[in-house]
Amino acid sequence: MPTTVNAYAAPSESEDLIATTIERRDVGPDDVLIDIKFAGICHSDIHTVRGDWGPQTYPLAPGHEIAGIVTEVGSNVTKHSVGDRVGVGCMVNSCGECKNCEAGEEQYCLKGNTGTYGAKDRDGSITQGGYSTHIVVTEDFVIRIPEGIDLDVAAPLLCAGITTFSPLKRWGAGPGKKVAIVGLGGLGHMAVKLAAAMGAEVTVLSQSLKKQEDGLRLGAKHYYATSDENTFSDLAGSFDLIINTVSATLPISDYLGLLALDGALVNVGAPAEPLPVNAFALIGGRRSFAGSLIGGIRETQEMLDFCAEHHLGAEVEVISADKINEAYERVLASDVRYRFVIDTSTLN
Ligand SMILES: [Zn+2]
Ligand SMILES: [Zn+2]
Repeated sequence: MPTTVNAYAAPSESEDLIATTIERRDVGPDDVLIDIKFAGICHSDIHTVRGDWGPQTYPLAPGHEIAGIVTEVGSNVTKHSVGDRVGVGCMVNSCGECKNCEAGEEQYCLKGNTGTYGAKDRDGSITQGGYSTHIVVTEDFVIRIPEGIDLDVAAPLLCAGITTFSPLKRWGAGPGKKVAIVGLGGLGHMAVKLAAAMGAEVTVLSQSLKKQEDGLRLGAKHYYATSDENTFSDLAGSFDLIINTVSATLPISDYLGLLALDGALVNVGAPAEPLPVNAFALIGGRRSFAGSLIGGIRETQEMLDFCAEHHLGAEVEVISADKINEAYERVLASDVRYRFVIDTSTLN
């Protein structure tokens, strides 16, 4: 018997989200029922519900930055208990058998991971996300939130946190490394905090100096405006790693020129248009241009443990559910410092 729960969902790609109800499946033997406390608003939520990334099935409740409390577990569940503080990120399942899943890189499942919302679940139903009071998720895709991180500031870590943690780790951000973060939004502000906590020397590259004070407070040592063309000549050949969090089309070859020998520019922003790359910008410095998608379940746990150890959370503005549409407009206008988080008790 599925359970009906309160949610905020888009009735179509052209309408505002509204208060409604959605169905959650019965708690199966491997499932965990989570009482959602907070759900972050990610830019991807907006793109998805508005059909920017392809047609969707409606009504659709987005949300893949979920933090809450376990209220029921299935008979086979061993990883979580009732009362545990847990999170769910961008995926709720994968095949579990391909070489990428076996390596703990479920996000790169060769059969495609199951997205937390708007994806076809194993039973054929369409997954519904975190803008709701409860969610049922198979235990392997539920992650423990350590004591020491409040649930509201933990929620955005499940997407914005892991999306930036994974490439920072993979490309060796740490003491002695110069790391630049392009864009100081939801992803960028976490990238700055994480890279600084890893011990790297962090520089923010932002369109203007409007958020400079914030950037330095969050852990950056330097802050440059990319609208100032001197920035690209002054910083040429400087960085070991650049994480690009911007989803607009940037002049990538100019940014590649900022890399030191063997440096890497990693895109986590996803512009709709192709990015032109001048091969000379890569060859002349043995540079790499790469991409990275969220992180695996094991690595997401590692990220949350790292954040607890370093007392890191997202900078959030907690809102009630009736402010979601307004929040969307503000996200699109880059008017948020730095993540909206929905208090899901306001859905009741
Ligand atoms: Zn996201
Ligand atoms: Zn797989």
